[in-house]
Amino acid sequence: MPEPVPTRTEILVGGDWRPPASGATLPVIDPSLGEEVGRIGRGTAPDIDAAVAAARAAREGAWGRLPAVERGRLLMKLARKVEDNHERLSQAEARDTGKPIRQARADITALARYFEFYAGAADKVHGETLPYLDGYTVLTFREPFGVTGHIIPWNYPAQIFGRSVAAALAMGNACVVKPAEDASLSILLVGELALEVGFPPGALNIVPGLGEEAGAALAGHPGIDHISFTGSPEVGTLVQQAAARNHRPVTLELGGKSAQLVFADADQEAALPVVVNAIIQNAGQTCSAGSRLLVEERVYDSFVGKVADRFGALQVGASDMDLDVGPVINIQQKERVSSYVEEGRKSGLEVLAEGRIAPNVPKAGYYVKPTLFGDVPPEHRLGQEEIFGPVLTVMRFKDEEDAVRIANGTPYGLVAGAWTRDGARQLRLAKALQAGQVFVNNYGAGGGVELPFGGVKRSGHGREKGFEALYHFSTLKTVAVRHG
Ligand code: NAD
Repeated sequence: MPEPVPTRTEILVGGDWRPPASGATLPVIDPSLGEEVGRIGRGTAPDIDAAVAAARAAREGAWGRLPAVERGRLLMKLARKVEDNHERLSQAEARDTGKPIRQARADITALARYFEFYAGAADKVHGETLPYLDGYTVLTFREPFGVTGHIIPWNYPAQIFGRSVAAALAMGNACVVKPAEDASLSILLVGELALEVGFPPGALNIVPGLGEEAGAALAGHPGIDHISFTGSPEVGTLVQQAAARNHRPVTLELGGKSAQLVFADADQEAALPVVVNAIIQNAGQTCSAGSRLLVEERVYDSFVGKVADRFGALQVGASDMDLDVGPVINIQQKERVSSYVEEGRKSGLEVLAEGRIAPNVPKAGYYVKPTLFGDVPPEHRLGQEEIFGPVLTVMRFKDEEDAVRIANGTPYGLVAGAWTRDGARQLRLAKALQAGQVFVNNYGAGGGVELPFGGVKRSGHGREKGFEALYHFSTLKTVAVRHG
């Protein structure tokens, strides 16, 4: 029998764990089992009201008065506390999301790293003095927004919480977090750890609940000063509309249909494992998944043949089996991915390879086979839409111009990867590819906490990660003093 998962049905508001106003709960489903393994609280609008009020009080009280260096120290204590609780957090994340345990462990390492990075950065953001007219001194102050809202998706709950909330806290904002209803456990655990290391009450508030209840209440709340949303483009639109009614700024980290380009001169051996991992990691449920593989005609057969061999050897299993691919998050996601695969087959696309579901997986788990489709027309639905599953669509291109046209030919623009030894082409591609991040002869760069991340086009706007995020979680005040 697996260990019980650490669930709790309270919400964190103003430094206290309390039952949600509704008194209601939501199920925690383990995707590996397809079974309920616990309950979490179902926060609703009154809980969001209370959390926003608690955050405001913290901002105007103990948290707001804390010098930047002290904020940084608290963040560093939390980073260390996360490391001390690494295995407990990893197990909770794996049970909640179904991801292979080694992926969950990597995610918790990244969570600690976000708090560490922003701990060091907290006291290094400053304003400027500006040259102006004689008799004036002009300064800029870099100030926190005040109360920031954070709506988190289920695919990398711990990591995305870390990247968004650590940066906002480092700038001195007080945060209200709405985790995804499908995966809240690791975030609730971090809430416990934050209290243990001494965050002032109300600096960090966590209200799990449904998107259309707690999420919508947070996005449209007049008491927040900024909202950061990571999730689907459809919900991103709703969040931006809700925030617009209060004229609040928004950071949107949305989906992608990212292209990996393999040219004839590429180092194929180096590219191969990276190209495959970029789509199977987290069962393809990664916003920046390399879900389109574009291969130059001259090496199409040789390279794609090797990709097919790898795909054919992939094994899918429960999170504790720690195979190549875990289950997807829920039954809807399983049906969604399966219906794309079915549509691909029906429309005549060729399945070049598919992985294998291990025979001993729990019957009710949400397992789907990784599938490789060859020669997908770029305009085909499978080549255009975010499937969010372990499905790789391969396309062929004639030359560099053709590659760029296909790569840029979707509504998305999150990440792109290019494999080529030609230095001039590397730079041309870096300029031509429409994406927030371009990787040359690598993909994803190991997560890259330090590297600014975000989209163009339908993939969103604003930047998280890296030092840049601190500017997106703060506002600039210009002070002009006329002294004669
Ligand atoms: P989702 O949009 O369904 O949900 C994301 C969050 O929004 C959840 O917390 C949910 O409860 C909440 N939500 C739902 N309806 C809401 C509403 N009306 N108002 C306010 N909040 C609401 O997305 P998902 O299914 O959890 O995640 C998958 C999507 O997220 C994919 O499109 C993926 O590409 C994207 N994603 C993007 C990034 C990125 O950094 N760009 C990272 C991870 C996931």
